[in-house]
Amino acid sequence: MPDIIQLLPDNIANQIAAGEVIQRPASAVKELLENAVDAGATDIRLIVQDAGKALIQVIDNGKGMTEIDARMCFERHATSKIKNIDDLFHIKTMGFRGEALASIAAVAQVELKTKKAEDTAGTYIEIENSQVKKQEPVAMEQGTSIAMKNLFFNVPARRNFLKSNPSELRHIIDEFIRVAMSFPEVFFSLNSNGQEVFHLERGTLKQRIVQILGNTYSSKLVSVQEKSDYMNIYGFVGKPETAKKTRGDQYFFVNNRFIKSAYLNHAMTNAFDEMIAKDSFAMYVLFIDLDPSQIDINVHPTKQEIKFEDEKIIYAFVQSAVKHALAQFSVSPTLDFELDATIQSLDAVNKPFTDENKSSASSSSLFKTFTQKNQAHFIENKSELKHWKDVYEPSKKEDYRQPATDDRSAGMPNAERLTPNANTFEPLHILPSAFSIEHSALLQLHNTYIVLQNDEGFLLVHQQNAHERVLYERFTTAVAGKPIATQRSLFPVTIELTPVDVLVLNELLSDLHFLGYQIEAFGKNTFVIQGTPADLEQGNEKTAIEKMLEQYKHFSNDLKYSKREKLLRSLAWQQAIKAGTAISQKEMKTLLEDLFACATPNITPNGKPVYTTFKKNELDKMFGR
Ligand code: ADP
Ligand code: MG
Repeated sequence: MPDIIQLLPDNIANQIAAGEVIQRPASAVKELLENAVDAGATDIRLIVQDAGKALIQVIDNGKGMTEIDARMCFERHATSKIKNIDDLFHIKTMGFRGEALASIAAVAQVELKTKKAEDTAGTYIEIENSQVKKQEPVAMEQGTSIAMKNLFFNVPARRNFLKSNPSELRHIIDEFIRVAMSFPEVFFSLNSNGQEVFHLERGTLKQRIVQILGNTYSSKLVSVQEKSDYMNIYGFVGKPETAKKTRGDQYFFVNNRFIKSAYLNHAMTNAFDEMIAKDSFAMYVLFIDLDPSQIDINVHPTKQEIKFEDEKIIYAFVQSAVKHALAQFSVSPTLDFELDATIQSLDAVNKPFTDENKSSASSSSLFKTFTQKNQAHFIENKSELKHWKDVYEPSKKEDYRQPATDDRSAGMPNAERLTPNANTFEPLHILPSAFSIEHSALLQLHNTYIVLQNDEGFLLVHQQNAHERVLYERFTTAVAGKPIATQRSLFPVTIELTPVDVLVLNELLSDLHFLGYQIEAFGKNTFVIQGTPADLEQGNEKTAIEKMLEQYKHFSNDLKYSKREKLLRSLAWQQAIKAGTAISQKEMKTLLEDLFACATPNITPNGKPVYTTFKKNELDKMFGR
């Protein structure tokens, strides 16, 4: 029998390998743009025709190549960026595999022009099917121009596989944006079929974001910036009102590389949790810089996933940095984004929000840096902040519920503590503080809405949503160490539960204790209710517990929240006065006072609006006045 194994000819091997790197025009665009960035260019121009199917050209003013390098760069595994395996763990460049140009040369007709500053002439090379067709000196300025024509001309199956021009162009634009976004100090332009699609002057990141994502963000960006020994994060998040119904304007970069990470996305969703509606997506452009040895970028060349040494730290860090930033913005919406030193040292989010992150993160060394002095996150009670609190500290109130403890905000998560009365949806001048609840005659409509007027207009408050917010914050304060008073039952009630409910209730007992419930296990499936919150109607303790468990289990599918958080939300939801309930002047008044003493009065814990503002001048306009 003859031997049958043969080595593949180079050009076929190259074509096969190219398929890994260059799947569509956009992949080539990404590689060429990254090469230009790696070459230190400050001016990078991308030209495409027919969505890259006919032509993709990148012209840069980077360092260029020598005549020999110009030849070499098309060889597989030809790279100037790493020399040994150790270098892999210190990658600072976008490329390092030395595969892109070899791949492109295998599946397109390529024309390279390149010149180094110190050389008198540049080099022109034409290459096709991985074969050099022509090489000659050329007169040109410093830099490199690579044009690739007729992508997949020699691999018809792949060419046929390409999508319509609009769809391929969309991919190209996505890649273009990802590179352009992370290098605002570089000029970028994109020209498609003779039309300039992007023209991005050099500038700050903020300017670049607005150039790319549009003017709507121009005054709506909140700066995020935190440093630690382990990692730095910087960038911008959109104010809550810019949240959109579709994911889209969301960018994470790790060491300037665009990445997709469901995990980090989740951290962001959590950070925005209270501020935007559940089904909408916040805008963000965030850069994480960390020691390259902490990540593994040596994954598939076109994959945008990345492996972190320690994902939990990154999660906690991202989340707290963003919460910190949002809190600062809420404290003072007029502050500029160039944050000064006093702002940076304000009390802010110094720990993750939920119990789960808290315990996982607090064991990490990073978390310890949060709680140590001289760290960006370290908390000192700044006097600047005090008067904010005084202004919004609740006045003496009448009792429609349990009276508030004297320092109700003490146990609030820091992000919320920093946002006294912050109204994230309305301009500052219409803040509820301008409304004098004290002297207003309040009006209840449909047994559901409360109308509160002032000189500038009126607020329409949804009573159930309002009460849910009030209770939620009160409960949060309680479980953080300001327990709600308990009224001991004269005749302790026993309650028998299913085994599942027993497990659930046992998990919640200690938190429930802070919330005013004194419940003790009594035998296998039985509990004794010794006391209930002082403000809860006596006599129906049993139903209250049963309902609470039911609601809690309903929330249980939501893995996003910690046990405690679910408990607080269930209780707040369950105990809030319902829409359709008539309440007295006094009750309305107390409810509103409580509401506007909340850290986040404008939305319910689940993100529903609590009130809407009607401005008088706008009403006047509606009536032609
Ligand atoms: P990698 O970027 O992984 O090194 P490439 O195949 O993309 O591999 O490029 C090979 C080499 O060619 C690079 O290491 C670099 O030295 C050189 N090169 C590519 N593009 C440019 C450019 N625009 N300017 C200067 N040198 C370049
Ligand atoms: Mg490269």
